[in-house]
Amino acid sequence: MANRVPLASIQQYSQEHLREVLNTAGHRLTPQREKVLSLFQRLGPGNHLTADDVHHHLKQSGKKVSLATVYRSLKLLVTMRLLDEGEWQEGLRCYELRQGGSKVVHHHMVCMRCDHTEEFTSEVITAASRDVAQVTGFELTEVRLTLRGICRRCRQRSKAAAETVP
Ligand SMILES: [Zn+2]
Ligand SMILES: [Zn+2]
Repeated sequence: MANRVPLASIQQYSQEHLREVLNTAGHRLTPQREKVLSLFQRLGPGNHLTADDVHHHLKQSGKKVSLATVYRSLKLLVTMRLLDEGEWQEGLRCYELRQGGSKVVHHHMVCMRCDHTEEFTSEVITAASRDVAQVTGFELTEVRLTLRGICRRCRQRSKAAAETVP
């Protein structure tokens, strides 16, 4: 189910994309922004981090970047289309590496109890979205779905808890 883009292609893509963005948008990739971006690249796909997570990771690896700078960098990297943002965890703004260009879209299945997130791709969802766009006369620019439920581990845990009740 988790149909992930290989890490190598993402890094390649990002470097390429980076150059392209820098050439066109006039944004500067400051050392702070680069630190934030390379953290996502190092962790690889499937990692969804909040600003606090990013701040924590950078601090742990001995890089001094303030939380305010992390917030600003994340916002700009989204504008530069190097990161995607979403509320995959309830009420928490998360960020992830934008993967493989606009053609590879992935969706999220999020556990409501522990925030465990599975990524998946689906041709059916893509096709259905195109249909809806056509019928409604929209030009489709983004297909992104967040499904919520209870993950296998949490279900097993509650089942085990129920069995121990006398
Ligand atoms: Zn994701
Ligand atoms: Zn769970």
